[in-house]
Amino acid sequence: MAEFNLQHNVSLETYNTLSVPAIAKSLVEIESVDQLQHAIAYAKENSMSLLVLGEGSNTVFNDDVDALVVVNRIKGKQVIEETEQDVTLKIGAGENWHKLVEWSLKNRWYGLQNLALIPGTVGAAPIQNIGAYGVELESVFIELECVEIEFAKTRVFDKELCQFAYRDSVFKNQLRDKVVITSVTLKLQKQASNNLSYPALRQYFENLNVEHPLPGQVFNVVCKIRNSKLPNPTEIPNAGSFFKNPIISEQHYQNLIKQHPDIVAFPVDGGIKLAAGWLIERAGWKGKAINGVATHHQQALVIVNPKNQTGKYILEYANSLQLAVYEIFSVKLEIEPRVYS
Ligand code: FAD
Ligand code: NAP
Repeated sequence: MAEFNLQHNVSLETYNTLSVPAIAKSLVEIESVDQLQHAIAYAKENSMSLLVLGEGSNTVFNDDVDALVVVNRIKGKQVIEETEQDVTLKIGAGENWHKLVEWSLKNRWYGLQNLALIPGTVGAAPIQNIGAYGVELESVFIELECVEIEFAKTRVFDKELCQFAYRDSVFKNQLRDKVVITSVTLKLQKQASNNLSYPALRQYFENLNVEHPLPGQVFNVVCKIRNSKLPNPTEIPNAGSFFKNPIISEQHYQNLIKQHPDIVAFPVDGGIKLAAGWLIERAGWKGKAINGVATHHQQALVIVNPKNQTGKYILEYANSLQLAVYEIFSVKLEIEPRVYS
């Protein structure tokens, strides 16, 4: 086993994309399942809880962390099955998601192009069933391997066990903090096909008079649109969308549309999905700054932390914003990233 490099009193500022300067009691970067088992044993011996981290792009630390932070760096990309139609890949949980998307396209394996430029690790992707531009992880997901923290035992979860939903899974609910994902298995297609259901993508190709873009072109356009709209966390600290798009009842929607005829909404399973960014902008919070924390001037759904403030300031800001939106629209915005109190 490679060296088990345990550190104490570590600043987490470079371990989360909001650059919150919380202090972890202990931290270890693991590169193998053996090292993970070692970390679990260490935490047990020292009566510490475990906090798993990938690249910290969907995490808010409200306070210092009295736990052993385990940073997942388990690497590896393996082709485990290949047919004329598709390829099945087993990917180490610590691999970078965007690099996986690039690599898959280089090999002419398709299905991930709409999910380009999502920060974070492969192992964190199932946690909220990452999604963008009408595609979600579950559309290519086969199974994952994880280690149950309590019993230090390896388990395999298929799609059904993961209970994927809109930005949600069993790992955000019943199995929250109970497992560490070590690998994810995906099936990609060899025949090119694209999902252009989102207006931003469709319009882009319509303007170019391109009827059937190649997956590589879709990848490039997704990157281009995202780069033009979203702050890069390495330049302006942020955790992407800070709130989920709320799903409300048809009745609620009918009431809202009377007062706000231009409200942005989409029918989905279970009701009507509202664009949270639109609600925030209409509530007058786009670009509004309090104690150095703000929403981004181009995308109100993203909270930015340019002064590396503590999580308390970020959550105070988020709570005031939630209240302002609720007062106008009677809609409760739910925070998307994981908050550690
Ligand atoms: P972390 O923040 O490190 O962890 C997130 C949660 O998952 C934590 O609770 C952690 O404990 C848990 N976790 C992480 N790894 C493991 C593991 N191996 N086993 C068990 N639990 C684990 N998300 C989208 O869905 N779509 C987008 O389009 C999108 N765009 C974004 C754009 C920006 C600019 C940013 C900053 C974020 C965006 N996100 C988006 C959110 C984020 O990128 C994803 O949620 C990503 O999957 C988080 O990966 P991570 O490794 O950084 O997770
Ligand atoms: P956009 O394309 O301007 O769309 C605005 C909102 O409308 C999005 O929130 C999207 O919901 C919804 N939407 C648009 N077309 C839709 C359709 N045909 N059916 C259902 N819903 C539709 O959004 P954007 O802000 O530029 O983001 C582009 C994509 O990247 C979105 O899918 C977004 O979720 C994703 N993204 C996610 C994060 C994150 O941190 N979670 C950060 C940045 C971008 P959905 O959000 O539900 O798709």
